[in-house]
Amino acid sequence: MAVAVNTLAEIREKVEADERLDLDDGVALMESDDLLALGELADAARRRRGGSDEVYFVQNLYLNQTNVCRVKCKFCAFAVTAKQADAYTYTGHELVEDALRQRGRTGFTEIHMVGGESPHVDFPYYVEIVSELHRAMPDVHLKLFTASEIHHMSKLSGLSHEGVLRELRAAGLGSLPGGGAEIFADRVRRLIAPGKEHPDEWFDVHRTAHGLGIPTHCTMLYGHVETYEERIDHLLRLRELQDETGGFLAFIPLAFHPENTVFERRGWRHTTGADDLKVLAVSRLMLDNVPNVKAYWIMMGMPLAQVALHFGANDVQGTVVREEIFHAAGARTETEQKIEELVRFVGEAGRIPVQRDTLYNELRRWN
Ligand code: SF4
Repeated sequence: MAVAVNTLAEIREKVEADERLDLDDGVALMESDDLLALGELADAARRRRGGSDEVYFVQNLYLNQTNVCRVKCKFCAFAVTAKQADAYTYTGHELVEDALRQRGRTGFTEIHMVGGESPHVDFPYYVEIVSELHRAMPDVHLKLFTASEIHHMSKLSGLSHEGVLRELRAAGLGSLPGGGAEIFADRVRRLIAPGKEHPDEWFDVHRTAHGLGIPTHCTMLYGHVETYEERIDHLLRLRELQDETGGFLAFIPLAFHPENTVFERRGWRHTTGADDLKVLAVSRLMLDNVPNVKAYWIMMGMPLAQVALHFGANDVQGTVVREEIFHAAGARTETEQKIEELVRFVGEAGRIPVQRDTLYNELRRWN
């Protein structure tokens, strides 16, 4: 029996009638080779749902508290064991010193910090690093720890996810990033992250955070062993939680990078620009209740991120503050240069650059 194939025209009709897209629609979109039509449809859907010409970015500092991790996800090139020479675990004091050094030169409004699941620290360590960062920079939003790390802390402490989140919030936590989601399908997790907790835990952490009024982000790591169906299933599961809680601020699709992983030795390559744009467009179309979709320019490069702004993205993530090379006094700060560049790229894509804080409050705009 022939399987009904949803055509782009049929899907467009649903979008224009504000009807929800289902699994079959999503798979048909993923299977479509008409990339420009996908982009146009995603952009139209974004505008139908209230999107405008504004494109957001945030100034943030990336920190990692430790690279020691027990989980050994096969796609990870970051984690080490405590015995390896390049292993580190920073104290709260060291993290604050580092952050303050960067802050003296720049004006970040957010710290994004995630790390490995180290078996060599305890829960008070996490509370301490959060409160030290918060005490030193009370006006900086702390977006810290993936759901996997929250689950890890729950196991370390014997507290529930809610107990962990309450303590971290009391110490200064503002929101959670979206990492650790990977692809939710059991088949994929068994292949790429067999040591990671079940996706139910990821959802429980985010649902609990939303219930406590802690906003979070959501992600999808694509471009490895997952099928189109598994991508769409992932997006639908996120959409379902968003229906229930409304607590996701933004969705960030993350392309898999095979360098320094077992997959590189198997000859795996990066996703193509076409696939990156397709995932963005389809994510925007399926996630009809998540207000912001990010084109993570640090990973995809600014030229492709510019195009992504016409494929459903309305956020280019941010100017990453990690000033490894500091220029001579008198020069403009590197951040200002990055902002100017970002503003130029966004403007040339025909959009209005808006600097935001973590919660999407406008801080500055360029018309
Ligand atoms: S849990 Fe995170 S840090 Fe640890 S191996 Fe997996 S991806 Fe890497």
